[in-house]
Amino acid sequence: HLDSLAARWLIDLLGFPGSFVGNFTSGGSTANLVGMGAARQHAAEKLGIDAAADGIEALREPRVYASPETHHVVTRAMGVLGLGRRNLRTVSLDADRRADLRQMEAFIREDIAAGRTPMAVVGNAGDVNTGIVDPLPQMATLAREFDIWFHVDGAYGGWGMLDERVEPAYGDRGLYDSFAVDPHKWLAAPVGTGLAICRDGELLSRAFTIEPGAYDRERNQVADPVGDAESPWGALGGGTPDWGVDFSTPTRGIPVWAILKEIGAEGMRERVRRHNDFARIVADHARREPELELLSEPQLSIACFRYRPAGWDDPERLDELNAAILAELRRVGRSLPSSTNVDGAFALRACYINPRNDREHVEHLVADVLEAGRRLSTAG
Ligand SMILES: *Cc1c(COP(=O)(O)O)cnc(C)c1O
Repeated sequence: HLDSLAARWLIDLLGFPGSFVGNFTSGGSTANLVGMGAARQHAAEKLGIDAAADGIEALREPRVYASPETHHVVTRAMGVLGLGRRNLRTVSLDADRRADLRQMEAFIREDIAAGRTPMAVVGNAGDVNTGIVDPLPQMATLAREFDIWFHVDGAYGGWGMLDERVEPAYGDRGLYDSFAVDPHKWLAAPVGTGLAICRDGELLSRAFTIEPGAYDRERNQVADPVGDAESPWGALGGGTPDWGVDFSTPTRGIPVWAILKEIGAEGMRERVRRHNDFARIVADHARREPELELLSEPQLSIACFRYRPAGWDDPERLDELNAAILAELRRVGRSLPSSTNVDGAFALRACYINPRNDREHVEHLVADVLEAGRRLSTAG
């Protein structure tokens, strides 16, 4: 009951229509796999095939269109689902580091003309490197135009829509076909808690049907999946296992329910706004300090920057210096940024999702980078 209730609360909180269904998963990896499984079923059913029952032999080169910043779990999902990793067609990034939609449309037309199977458009609702949100409203329109599934990976950044300043970038959630989001990231639920949201619960069940065994026939006879059934079997609740890849699962919804009970929707909104502000503060420092260089303008709670002393132009030397700065920060242990690659450059990556992060940590990070950078760039 609490699993179903927590999933409903999240569907609501994230602005999806009440007709959408949600199911907890072990993380973003499986939530994306579930979304891609639904996309596969959709593409096959358009051709009169039940992919779950008949296999996908008849799907000729099932193509997925996405930005190069798409997380590798999407690529792996294509491998696991038998779609073929090579059928992920990545488009270029536009000047704002978002998926280039003109090229995406050209790829779709080209694939249709060649008799391939356009299967899904995948949008990033905050890519994991820089937190940039793809042009989701336009992607939704493009997917609709060609009747292709529209999946959005919001594992990290889906929560970003709770900040009204960035919310418009996510567009109408009613136009998403499936969505992956991780309560174990920004919501700070225990690791092992993802959520797959889908527009069409029936299609999702066809994609992930699990035939009842002789011993659990009653599973499909639960009259009121979220109410209090008289039979203890009724207390198993609705949703799983036809909406994902698990059968027995831990109750992932209870911690989510408890967190939402404690901090409320407003508490979570406040957290997201605060963290988005932190990334902007880092970016402001990086713009102001002559020795720092901002590498990507934060849209959510990620700021990517590097230390760049005057006169240092050799890209390799800058990468080495910043890798050494990162190692030094980790040794000292006061600030623990990660790193990434932005347009070929090694970047220090500050990503704020920890509820305990406060303003002081932001200032420490900048001070520690400056201190380590000065020391390491002048030491022989
Ligand atoms: C974290 C993340 C994933 C993978 O999710 P897990 O919960 O680690 O399985 C996928 N996509 C994005 C955008 C992520 O941030």
